[in-house]
Amino acid sequence: MSIIEQHITEPKIAYFSMEIGLRDDIPTYSGGLGILAGDTVKSAADLNLPFVAVTLICIKGYFRQELDSNGHQTEHPVLWNPSDFMKLSQEKVTVTIEGRDVHVQSWVYFVESPRGGVIPVLYLDTNLPENSDEDRTLTDHLYGGDESYRIKQEVVLGIGGVRMLRKLGFEIKKYHMNEGHAAFLTLELLHEFKKDIESVWDEEHIWDIEPVKDLCVFTTHTPVEAGHDKFTYELYEKVFRDYFPVNILKKLAGDKKVNMTLLGFNSSNFVNGVAKKHGEVSQNMFPGYQINAITNGVHSYTWTSDSMKKLFDKYLPGWANEPEIFVRIGVIPDEELWAAHSEAKNELIDYVNTVSGADMDYDTLTFGFARRATAYKRADLLFSDLKRLEKIGTKKIQIIYAGKAHPKDTVGKELIEKIYSYKEDLKGKIKIAFIQNYKMDIALKLVSGVDIWLNTPLRPLEASGTSGMKATHNGVMNFSVLDGWWIEGHIEGFTGWSIGPAATEIEPDNNMNAIDADDLYNKLEKKIIPLYYGDRKNWVRMMQNAIGKNAYYFNTHRMMRRYVTEAYIR
Ligand SMILES: *Cc1c(COP(=O)(O)O)cnc(C)c1O
Repeated sequence: MSIIEQHITEPKIAYFSMEIGLRDDIPTYSGGLGILAGDTVKSAADLNLPFVAVTLICIKGYFRQELDSNGHQTEHPVLWNPSDFMKLSQEKVTVTIEGRDVHVQSWVYFVESPRGGVIPVLYLDTNLPENSDEDRTLTDHLYGGDESYRIKQEVVLGIGGVRMLRKLGFEIKKYHMNEGHAAFLTLELLHEFKKDIESVWDEEHIWDIEPVKDLCVFTTHTPVEAGHDKFTYELYEKVFRDYFPVNILKKLAGDKKVNMTLLGFNSSNFVNGVAKKHGEVSQNMFPGYQINAITNGVHSYTWTSDSMKKLFDKYLPGWANEPEIFVRIGVIPDEELWAAHSEAKNELIDYVNTVSGADMDYDTLTFGFARRATAYKRADLLFSDLKRLEKIGTKKIQIIYAGKAHPKDTVGKELIEKIYSYKEDLKGKIKIAFIQNYKMDIALKLVSGVDIWLNTPLRPLEASGTSGMKATHNGVMNFSVLDGWWIEGHIEGFTGWSIGPAATEIEPDNNMNAIDADDLYNKLEKKIIPLYYGDRKNWVRMMQNAIGKNAYYFNTHRMMRRYVTEAYIR
């Protein structure tokens, strides 16, 4: 009996994602997109949804980050063994790449919810002896290699993924593309609906997009141009040969390049951005499409610290599968909420001091900033005016950083080096630590152990952001630029604080850094530091609000219910 057979009981939603972050020892994720995919699958399991996920095995992981004493990053492959976690299914499929048959097998990981739901996740793998040496490496790296490597990976994911689902016996009622990487799956579906030449008027009508659109849901995740894969038609023809006619593809994916986002849009009856603002921004980027918005969330149980879990279990039983129960956060006594936070904070400080020797204090107001190191996230905004920061923050604040830069992102790498140099500049005044090799376990320690979660993206480039949502599950307030989810979650001085003007007030301009930094310093000095040291009662009130208003809403249980009612059942 195949390992998957008992799970093929009813038609499923197939969720395709280039990266999935389910646990930190399965290193096939790079950042927010992958973590969101993992949290999506976990909530689908808790809610017992008919769901199956498809991704690539990425056997060398994303990378392990090593930083030298100047903050210079080097990347190392991550060694891990799928058989520690997954079972290899016997079924194989082939895809055609540059005229060669490329054989694909699949590892199966089962996400099991304590509620009884089980979701299979298929990790596609081309490392088979019957493949050429080159093709064997196609599922090695996440976001590695050149354009040609990427388009081939996307053939394996999109086309190989559909074929694998068929081969394993799945019946699929919706295909959900998490970003454009999997959009080639629509071409495979077009093939399945292909009409006989005798039954149609002209060649164009052989390819009927309508039944494909009925089956597909597409989620776009970023307004950053580089986040939208585009391939030349030359490369397309080299890789695909005569698999699908170029003249038809141009109508779906754009005239000049194969734009994977356009392909997704044109092949889906439901398209969405990942926060209300991001829906609007995407609508402006792609006029002529109806772009909906379903705001992201995080998986509550995964992103809550042990000490908070214990507290929630005591006072709000059932919270993990029904985060709406956070509405009653006020039943938790202030002292106990503060004690649970302090426990997480002490653990974090001990950890940071062990790995970095930063000698951080338990009682100092502590900020956290961790996310991919890339230009628009502006990790260095806090240091815009060192003298002013020194004056406001000396001996009053300390800051913990983490984040990887993509191996080819030189600006991102320089940002890490800059933070290392500011750390030296502020020595003896403001303690700063940079934790190497940011991943899920470190993320949980950080979002639960700091007092304030800081976020300073350049508007409107943060589509949603999710690490701030994780913080709120631990009673950690956000101090953030009004972009992405925070526009929806922010109530000034109640759930947290904004930095800079509201998104609607001004268009981003060259002066944005100065305007934002000025507001950041002002609030730090006049609001946040005084409240932390002088008014613990109201500080704890805000912690309650972060949980009762933000975590209550920004979770993947709510998000999945919306995907089901608005996108899947239509
Ligand atoms: C949550 C998470 C992210 C995403 O953080 P953003 O603030 O949304 O950019 C990235 N990396 C890891 C390891 C995470 O846990």
